[in-house]
Amino acid sequence: MYIIFRCNCGRVNYSKKGFKTKKCVCGKNLKVKDMRIIEKANTHQEASEIVQGLQEKIHGGAYFTTADKVR
Ligand SMILES: [Zn+2]
Repeated sequence: MYIIFRCNCGRVNYSKKGFKTKKCVCGKNLKVKDMRIIEKANTHQEASEIVQGLQEKIHGGAYFTTADKVR
């Protein structure tokens, strides 16, 4: 089981259930058990897909723009 949660900085992270901390890319160490779970996944693959989907929703897809849209 993987849990998906958001850091205070807004980034979406995921962690395997049972892990105590997860380091966000912003440098903050998150206490997994204190985080509000926004989604759950069964596999690593599923978790990363959910995270990517959420990031796109939050950031309007700007971080995942395709090469043909870049000038
Ligand atoms: Zn963060």
